[in-house]
Amino acid sequence: MAIDFLDLKRANEPHEAAIREAMERVVASGRYILGEESAAFEREFAEYCGVAHCIGVGNGLDALQLILRAYGIGNGDEVIVPSTTFIATWLAVSQIGARVVPVEPDPRTCNIDPARVEAAITSRTRAIIPVHLYGQPADMEPVNEIARRHGIRVIEDAAQAHGARYRGRRTGGLADAAGFSFYPGKNLGALGDGGAITTNDDQLAAAVRKLRNYGSSVKYRHEVAGVNSRLDELQSAILRVKLRQLDAENERRAELASAYMSALTPAGALLQLPHVIAESAPVWHLFVVRTPNRNALQARLSARGVGTLIHYPIANHRQQAYAGERWPDLPIADRLQNEVLSLPMAPYLTIDEIRVVAAEVLEFFS
Ligand SMILES: *Cc1c(COP(=O)(O)O)cnc(C)c1O
Repeated sequence: MAIDFLDLKRANEPHEAAIREAMERVVASGRYILGEESAAFEREFAEYCGVAHCIGVGNGLDALQLILRAYGIGNGDEVIVPSTTFIATWLAVSQIGARVVPVEPDPRTCNIDPARVEAAITSRTRAIIPVHLYGQPADMEPVNEIARRHGIRVIEDAAQAHGARYRGRRTGGLADAAGFSFYPGKNLGALGDGGAITTNDDQLAAAVRKLRNYGSSVKYRHEVAGVNSRLDELQSAILRVKLRQLDAENERRAELASAYMSALTPAGALLQLPHVIAESAPVWHLFVVRTPNRNALQARLSARGVGTLIHYPIANHRQQAYAGERWPDLPIADRLQNEVLSLPMAPYLTIDEIRVVAAEVLEFFS
């Protein structure tokens, strides 16, 4: 039995009829940018996250970048980010001219370690961007507390964690503002690029709403030098369809994750399983295991028809894009890039498929 890492066609099949209907509605409407569908999606996603505002943008990278810009962060400022994350978290900071200050994760969760954050704060620090990596909520309370004491902003990178809960509240409403991505492979994925900003901050909401649309709130009047980064009507209509099923799909992911957990327990100390922090409900964007024998395990699974991916094979400070800068020692990020392996995880998978993958993993270690 071949099991792909992720088959997006299979993932979208249950939504296909409703997506076609939504697309036809948009085609017939004659309105394709900033119309009723994007306004409705913004209302619905804000309500889903439990926040006052949602502003649709072109992608997740823009969402983070526009939040930083709207807070007036730029040249000469420092922003604390996790050493282990998708490169977009770092690029959002670099592209507004601020300095990336990487902080190592707690090796059990792979999320930013609040205990290390405070030591990285200087007089130039303006914000911290915790990432809910792999769909596991970061430990926000201690981060928010440190930020409050130092008078700096906290911005969630929620691109991998639509619907995840931390102490009963959803991601997107756990800090000053949050950036989401609707890239097709995310838990809430469009059929193209898309992103959103969520916040309870009225001023920030108004500022990013302007920035995403050429710095304009009244047509042809431009108050700031903005950008063009909008969530279009087609993607908004598709996302409205998929948002209705998001909780059910996330619950399914949780069932599959617990099937993996029990099936893989016999591997014992040879394989490190995901660690869920107290009072949190992850949404299992990825199911990531760890072993120093990662490359051999991946090759074996591939030979048996099981697709896997590595998130991420090259730590950001090792990327050519960041080669020109001097970085502190980041031994945890270095180790994770060599040990992490993402097993197949998608709502359409069956418990039997999970058992087949787990059996192949156990056989490798036996
Ligand atoms: C996907 C992702 C982004 C960027 O989203 P895009 O829509 O691809 O720009 C940012 N941060 C994290 C952690 C992501 O996984």
